[in-house]
Amino acid sequence: MRVAFKTFGCRLNQAETEQFAADFTSAGWHVVPPAAPADVVVIHGCAVTHTAEQQGLQMARSIKRTARMAGQQEPFVALVGCVVEADAARRAVAGVDLLVTRDGKDRLAAIVQAHLSARALPAHALPELPDPSIRPRRKRALLKVQDGCDFFCSYCIVPHTRGLPVSRPWQQVLDEARALSQAGFSELVVTGCNMACYRDGTRGLPDLLAALVSIAEVPRLRLGSIEPATSELEIIELMSSCSKICRHLHLPLQSGDAATLRRMRRRYTPESYAAIVQAAMRRLPDLGLGTDLIVGFPGESDESFARTIQFVESLPFSNLHVFPYSARPGTTAAELPEAVPPAVRKARAQELLRLREEKRRAFALQFVGRPVDVLIERLDTDGFGCGWSGAYLDCRVPGISRSQRGRIVRFTPTGVGESGALV
Ligand code: SF4
Repeated sequence: MRVAFKTFGCRLNQAETEQFAADFTSAGWHVVPPAAPADVVVIHGCAVTHTAEQQGLQMARSIKRTARMAGQQEPFVALVGCVVEADAARRAVAGVDLLVTRDGKDRLAAIVQAHLSARALPAHALPELPDPSIRPRRKRALLKVQDGCDFFCSYCIVPHTRGLPVSRPWQQVLDEARALSQAGFSELVVTGCNMACYRDGTRGLPDLLAALVSIAEVPRLRLGSIEPATSELEIIELMSSCSKICRHLHLPLQSGDAATLRRMRRRYTPESYAAIVQAAMRRLPDLGLGTDLIVGFPGESDESFARTIQFVESLPFSNLHVFPYSARPGTTAAELPEAVPPAVRKARAQELLRLREEKRRAFALQFVGRPVDVLIERLDTDGFGCGWSGAYLDCRVPGISRSQRGRIVRFTPTGVGESGALV
């Protein structure tokens, strides 16, 4: 039997999909790429924004119709992820055979199998062995360390959909890191819902990262998003003494306006955030610094948005993820007055996206003429090796052979291309 996964949303969802795929494989299934014909399609949905939620639900509704139109047998469709916990999906979703809540996520393969057996669903007339050429090729592995969050930022549905923090046991994480490294992955991406919540006894995230880098087999380690005003200063110290950790931090800012941050129930001020960035830059001058920004949060005036622009301009960000605010039913912010009109939210997002391009290019230019290490993920049609540097810069490397895919290579860029990539 074949199973395909269609994943929406964050790296944590991607990490969980990889675990689902491993569980199905252990149970004797063949995992096929998302668009390949399959007996079972698992939609791993996201509810963080209205758009992401709708994309997942629309995909779920259309799977059977798409298969029919292609002359294929309709697959069994399972929907899992935050989208199942959010209001919109609590009702039955047309075209979906099975909703799996977060209590069942860890047993997804067994639950699907049980439903198929109960329905006596026949094995479809598909070849048993998948074509090896359509198996996904992966160069970096996601290493999930925890799930859930109890910060309850006012706009965020995640603590409601994923629940309170649960950390994976210390030894289990280390064992998995060693196994992934031995399996040949060139980069492990440490990820979680809110990694600052990681705990095993008295040990927190900085302790875990120190233990991970001390494993000889572990190659390059990349960190997912870290909440500001938690343990980032300890992590910066660790990064400065360990070349295995990529020189990249993602510190979600959301707004550069103090009053907006208070309404968002964030745990820092613009001043304390700036102090963290300054401390990071003193220790790691070449650090790539990414952030998330929400525009059009209720009550965000022209003046408060102007403060955000000014603040973002003042800091050395290398990338911005910009999200127009979207109200999530069940959150405190969804009840706040002074909604910002959609057209204003869109215009503000575009302004920040223009700033993002300037920042990205300025950061990339710093690396021209200097050697950078790039994890080659694919070869493009012009024969360049494409991948990401430690500081998370998009790179196009000449003279790369197929055998170097998945490897880290050193190259010295001579410029920044139109797309913003180092070339
Ligand atoms: Fe959501 Fe805030 Fe928790 Fe991040 S820290 S998952 S934004 S509640």
